[in-house]
Amino acid sequence: MSELYDVIVIGAGQAGLAAGYHLKKNGFHYVVLESNTEPAGSWPQYYDNLRLFSPASYSSLPGMPFPLKADIYPTRDEVIFYLKMYAKHNNFPIHFNVRVDRVEKNELFYLHTTDGEVYRTKNIICATGSFNQPFVPKLEGGEDFKGTIIHSSQYRKPDAFRKQRVIVVGRGNSAVQIGAEISERASVTTLAVLQPVQLVPQRLLGKDVHFWMKIIGYDAFPFWRFGVTVGSPGGAIDVGGFKNKLRDGLHGVEGALDDRGYAVQKGGLSSTVPGLYYLGLSGQRSFASATIRGVGSDAKYVVKHLKRRGLG
Ligand SMILES: Cc1cc2nc3c(=O)[nH]c(=O)nc-3n(C[C@H](O)[C@H](O)[C@H](O)COP(=O)(O)OP(=O)(O)OC[C@H]3O[C@@H](n4cnc5c(N)ncnc54)[C@H](O)[C@@H]3O)c2cc1C
Repeated sequence: MSELYDVIVIGAGQAGLAAGYHLKKNGFHYVVLESNTEPAGSWPQYYDNLRLFSPASYSSLPGMPFPLKADIYPTRDEVIFYLKMYAKHNNFPIHFNVRVDRVEKNELFYLHTTDGEVYRTKNIICATGSFNQPFVPKLEGGEDFKGTIIHSSQYRKPDAFRKQRVIVVGRGNSAVQIGAEISERASVTTLAVLQPVQLVPQRLLGKDVHFWMKIIGYDAFPFWRFGVTVGSPGGAIDVGGFKNKLRDGLHGVEGALDDRGYAVQKGGLSSTVPGLYYLGLSGQRSFASATIRGVGSDAKYVVKHLKRRGLG
């Protein structure tokens, strides 16, 4: 019979690592399962020139400041470095190269991996992210389009678009950033938007916008308590056009997801399956839930709930 855990975290991206931090702090017997070979989540797959839209001072996971000057905006590679360093420093129990294929539940959860192993646990925190479920809407007449359509998750650098005519669909951070860099290579670049792009200045009165969001409480405002999934300040922050579909990690847990593949949850606690938790969902508990700066407080909340149930 395999070892019995209090909690198994699926995914060692920022959400899974933040969970690891609070589980460790509260003395839980847990393990993190990660299908990749390193604890960097989906960051290595994001486009080459990505820079965080929050400065280092607002881009940390719990217990370890981002090792850059406060007002520097970290690059993708600096985030990857930070996540790896965070996992190493905290010495989290992570099993790499382990992909959860399906989950069975009776009194306990049984996690079946693609290698045929079975892990047993009382609780699951699903931190699988949404990067592997990019959403491309069906475009009317799209079949007749002779060009190429790619999702932002496949975009790496602008060179591939030299002298081409390109339409970037979206008006959030990623769309605007990608559009701006493509426009330096393409012959024509158009941003297709439903509403005008509202550019929020990165600095107001000498301070980064995240300072002000913190001061007015916007970043942590509990929209979820009012039944609102996410509050967006007019498209300033993009969630990458991804849907929070989690079919992958949770295949087999009856009732966990709705017909469209969305988690049935409130504040990260499954509404239908006791013992099942989520981290990293967009708008889970605040506007910042799916960002590096916001996931730590959600992890604290979820682990506090586990603790209250007398575990750990
Ligand atoms: C283009 C883009 C730009 C962004 N820019 C910013 C930004 O500037 N600032 C910011 O704070 N946020 C940004 N984000 C949002 C967010 O911070 C990232 O998407 C982040 O990677 C989410 O972290 P996560 O841990 O929730 O998920 P992920 O990083 O996706 O990590 C999930 C992990 O789970 C693993 N996994 C998945 N399924 C399984 C399974 N079945 N079994 C085992 N392991 C599994 C994956 O291998 C992965 O390592 C951006 C997102 C995108 C897409």
